[in-house]
Amino acid sequence: MAGRVSSQLDLWYTKDLLKELVQTSTWNRPLLQQLFESEEITRITGIPVATGYKPDHWGWFYTTTGRYTVKSGYSVLQELSDEGTLPVFGPDIRRLQAQSWKVKCTTKLQHFLWQIITGCLSVGARLCSRGMRVDPQCVRCGMGEETINHMLFECPPARQAWALSPIPTPPQHFPTDALFSNMAHLFWNLPDDDDMSMYPWLLWFIWKARNYKVFSNDDHNPHDVMESAITEARAWAVAQTVIDNSAQLVKMVSKPAEWPAFAILLEEVEKYKGMFQEFSLTHIPRTKNTKADKLARSARAQPQDVYYINSIPPASLPGPA
Ligand SMILES: [Zn+2]
Repeated sequence: MAGRVSSQLDLWYTKDLLKELVQTSTWNRPLLQQLFESEEITRITGIPVATGYKPDHWGWFYTTTGRYTVKSGYSVLQELSDEGTLPVFGPDIRRLQAQSWKVKCTTKLQHFLWQIITGCLSVGARLCSRGMRVDPQCVRCGMGEETINHMLFECPPARQAWALSPIPTPPQHFPTDALFSNMAHLFWNLPDDDDMSMYPWLLWFIWKARNYKVFSNDDHNPHDVMESAITEARAWAVAQTVIDNSAQLVKMVSKPAEWPAFAILLEEVEKYKGMFQEFSLTHIPRTKNTKADKLARSARAQPQDVYYINSIPPASLPGPA
């Protein structure tokens, strides 16, 4: 793909190319198709094109709104000062503990990450060290003492689940026999890629698989463990986007000046608002309005636009679940 674009790009200066790509208020699709793969085209055409002339303005890249906030400025600064400095490990695990609450996942999983780091999981070796008469050996492999690190990273079925997952497992670097450096690897060393965000779920499903074995002698194969982690992680990510989007939309429309990054889209909204005698937008969580949610979903599944204007839902629509 890169070769295809760069050879063609030689023909134009970027500025001229952009002029060619954007025709009056829409993208030049035939030219896009000549230059880019379909996946890129979808992304490009997702960028709204202004209908009229709009002067350039400054925007802040690190907030969704495009507006600068002191908080975002501070966290960018913090990240810059952290760059290149590897975390120091030792008895001080506060930085790891603090990070568990910042990981993008459910609160239950954040708490689980915190438990891993703090040593609050009832594995064989931990129970023994507290004086309980249990076998410290790992039930799943019988090859060593069941420590938290063994159970999550080094036990063969766990190791296999990591190897099958999208998380990179460079030999000698991850997984290792050191719990804190394994967790640090997951927290700070993973490539910046959406696929990486599944690791809290993978840790959780490895733990669950271990419990199934210990308490019910059930074997869960590493591939299923990994698949369950990916499925749950994706479902959570989708739910987050939907919740964020609908709540934010209401804020955007009521205070467009606060969202410069969406200026072009909000201008459209302004324009169409004027066509109604009265207009108001309120955020109602989908759980409180299942009928509207079903209606919207069925409309999205239709190949063409669907219009329905009434105060009662159509009879064809199933009742709330
Ligand atoms: Zn084991």
